[in-house]
Amino acid sequence: MTAATTELDLDGIHATGSTLRTENLSAWFGNHKVLDRVSLTMPAGVVTALIGPSGCGKSTFLRILNRMHELVPSASLAGEVLLDDQDIYGAGQRLTETRRRIGMVFQKPNPFPTMSIADNVTAGLKLTGLRANRAEKAALVEECLTRAGLWREVKDRLRQPGGALSGGQQQRLCIARSLAVRPDVLLMDEPCSALDPTSTRRIEETIGELRSEVTIVIVTHNMQQAARVSQQCAFFLAEEGRPGYVVEHGDTGRMFGDPQDRRTADYVNGRF
Ligand code: ADP
Ligand code: MG
Repeated sequence: MTAATTELDLDGIHATGSTLRTENLSAWFGNHKVLDRVSLTMPAGVVTALIGPSGCGKSTFLRILNRMHELVPSASLAGEVLLDDQDIYGAGQRLTETRRRIGMVFQKPNPFPTMSIADNVTAGLKLTGLRANRAEKAALVEECLTRAGLWREVKDRLRQPGGALSGGQQQRLCIARSLAVRPDVLLMDEPCSALDPTSTRRIEETIGELRSEVTIVIVTHNMQQAARVSQQCAFFLAEEGRPGYVVEHGDTGRMFGDPQDRRTADYVNGRF
């Protein structure tokens, strides 16, 4: 007897990007409020950079966007997260489908270290219930590694463990793994903070190439990086007695060239 499976139609699911929007999003850990009424639209085809000092809630915001926040027992939230106008926390929304559509890449590259490079790329298929045959998987591995800018470096060593790659290569492997489940949105939490400048550049190039296909939201502490990769920027801040909120957001060129708020000007010019 064959198990019931969902065939992965490689041509059927195509990521063209989606618009992600929050409405008055607030978040707590226990009684500690960490985000206060954040309303932000992250449109398709645009890289949105989230900037701001440590502890102002940027990672929490990202984790709410793909429903990882709720994994913390004390965590709660209010407000809405809309993916193409559908509330991802609404009744009838399937958690695995939401996580498939909204992928995440973390600061520390986290491939499965003993799993082969090829199997790392397709690892997410099982988790999301998608299945592919051997030929489809091979095609997917090549496609995703190519899109992540890693194919040429690893095509002759696909059976080697993911953990044998350099840090920058591991991060690109993680991007390839995220892409394999055809996400509409890719969330990146300081994806280059642990990488050298050359690897950082490679990831930035990849972000630029993916932008037209996947909606990207990136947290970065590097203002030059925010200026290079993003078209839209949001400045988060937590102040004495005030949980994290968005001070100012808008076109990246304008935010850096003509910030409206003095605190934004101070932050983007390194006076914080
Ligand atoms: P950022 O990414 O901007 O540095 P975070 O979202 O990591 O900020 O943290 C925002 C606030 O939430 C901080 O005060 C932090 O201590 C708190 N926080 C983050 N994660 C947890 C958690 N799992 N439990 C309790 N508090 C947390
Ligand atoms: Mg963080």
